[in-house]
Amino acid sequence: MAGEAVRQLFVCTGKLMHYAKPLARLVGEFEKLPGIGPKSAQRLAFHVLKLNENDAHALADAIVDVKTHIKLCPVCYNYTDQDHCEICSDAKRDRSVLCVVADPRDVVAMDKTNEFKGMYHVLGGVISPMDGVSPEMLKIRELLARLESGEVKEVVLATNPTIEGDATAMYIAQLIKPLGIKVTRIAHGMPVGGDMDYADQATLIQALQWRREI
Ligand SMILES: [Zn+2]
Repeated sequence: MAGEAVRQLFVCTGKLMHYAKPLARLVGEFEKLPGIGPKSAQRLAFHVLKLNENDAHALADAIVDVKTHIKLCPVCYNYTDQDHCEICSDAKRDRSVLCVVADPRDVVAMDKTNEFKGMYHVLGGVISPMDGVSPEMLKIRELLARLESGEVKEVVLATNPTIEGDATAMYIAQLIKPLGIKVTRIAHGMPVGGDMDYADQATLIQALQWRREI
């Protein structure tokens, strides 16, 4: 909140300072971003203030552009600005292996490793009763529908190795196994409780290579 940033600034400088309203608004907006505290929000806002007009417009346009043009791929539910995402449109990818992840960021992390050449399915979260996320709120029904064609021979469950990630993987495994499709879980080369998005590539490659059937 802008108020909080202003208070922090008082603490930093020890003297009274007033933000002009538009500046306070920008600081307030930055403070809403994940991982941005009052001091960082202030630093970013002052940085924006120093930008030339073109760069400031480019930043604002980029924000509006993602909100206007990015949508979910109707096949894998990854983000895309096309009818189908790049991965689903790529004829060279292996359609017999499907990697299930919680978040579009995990597709980026996994694909950067260059180790996985199959397809993806993004759940849009993990089952978490504490946060009010039930299975019906995830793209699990859509996942099962994708498996109906018989093209997929292995489903790799690559949710994070957290309690919720594991529970989600187990829930999905139970649904898929009766279909006669091989179900594997990425290994715990990943630190327990870790986040795929932050795992280094070597760790992620190992987690994938050491995946085990469940
Ligand atoms: Zn797609």
